[in-house]
Amino acid sequence: MQERQFNQDFFQFLTDSPTPFHAVAVMAEKLQEAGFHKLSETQEWHLKPGNAYFIIRDNGALAAFTLAAENHQDQGFRFLGAHTDSPSLQIKPLAGKTTHSYFQLGVEVYGGPLLATWFDRDLSIAGKVVCTTADNQFATLLIDFKRSVAVIPSLAIHFDREANNGRAINKQKELVPIFSQTADGDPLNFSSILVEQINREHPEKKAAAILGFDLFFHDCQPPSFLGMNSEFITGGRLDNLLSCFTGYTAMIETKIANSANGNSLLVCSNHEEIGSLTASGAKGNFLQSILERITPDPLARQRSLRKSFFISMDNAHGVHPNFSDKSDPEHLPLLNHGPVIKTNANQNYATTSVSTAIFKTLAAEAGVTTQDFVMRSDMACGSTIGPFTAATLGIPTVDIGAPTLAMHSIREITGSRDPFLLYRTISHYLSREHLPQTEG
Ligand code: ZN
Repeated sequence: MQERQFNQDFFQFLTDSPTPFHAVAVMAEKLQEAGFHKLSETQEWHLKPGNAYFIIRDNGALAAFTLAAENHQDQGFRFLGAHTDSPSLQIKPLAGKTTHSYFQLGVEVYGGPLLATWFDRDLSIAGKVVCTTADNQFATLLIDFKRSVAVIPSLAIHFDREANNGRAINKQKELVPIFSQTADGDPLNFSSILVEQINREHPEKKAAAILGFDLFFHDCQPPSFLGMNSEFITGGRLDNLLSCFTGYTAMIETKIANSANGNSLLVCSNHEEIGSLTASGAKGNFLQSILERITPDPLARQRSLRKSFFISMDNAHGVHPNFSDKSDPEHLPLLNHGPVIKTNANQNYATTSVSTAIFKTLAAEAGVTTQDFVMRSDMACGSTIGPFTAATLGIPTVDIGAPTLAMHSIREITGSRDPFLLYRTISHYLSREHLPQTEG
């Protein structure tokens, strides 16, 4: 696969994935097309050596795995992990109020977005809706309005001359998107609008009434190249759909080489941005329950896990040229210079000397340079799904990711070479005959 095509496919994935539910649906479709068999957690599994499978939980998490052609229960796993969610604004259950003829939808803040970037953007709505259908059944359906339907207007500077001097944003009062203007001041019925939208996207379901929803606002502007020489990529949800895309593409492209060499498993969890402690988050039992079903014998499973390696993929901070004093002066990752290995003395990242060595070896063999990140010692460090996964499963783990600017903005920035550099590294990881040996 060539870099240009890879980036175009990545842009399409970002556009088609305004929410974790949509990202999972797209990944499932691509995996199924590539010959991965869909499994259900409510059914028995009849796994065959050499085959490839995927499972979805709660629409928001997905795991895909390939089994070794021989003795898969005796072999370790090459794990890849990422998360499907991004900071966002989630619509409240009883959303909808009219103020001075403007119909507005109340939101809660999901995760830790840079709120100032959400003002004056063309916003759309997407997510998951549960409804009753004409034959009185439940249906869980995904919707995406796919057009600008809302905006959070800034307050004009004439009303706040201090606006450019660090204005605080009140999440309850100042962050309520305008969805429509009503002629007679009567509030719109948001449930009816949702029923109409479902029936536009899923006419066969004949939705009757809305029972619940997980709906989010998202930016309508599609991802694009940027810079005089198109050096950069800009778009929403690069953290962490970049890693999800890279992960499932590598699983698909290496499927055959992969099963010849051993087991591999990609897990894309939901809810990382809010702490991962949910049924479809990395602190839930999704991954563990899959491993129990692949290798039911606990001792065999322990042996297999101890032969395994986990690459936890999540975007990393590049040094910002206007704020380079925020970075450790010796650790200054640059866009377009390769995946970043994240280290933290207090193990907010799971990286160790051993896992660093393995990742660096893999990258070097793939012809990819790596970079190193540590947070400044006088600043608090973020975290990822890596440490918890390493602790729960006892697997050597490395935390890595593509360098990014403006992380958690509604529109983030990475290098146009970075997704493919990560892809080359993890494809090599999945197709290498053995993992590099570091024991002893
Ligand atoms: Zn992330």
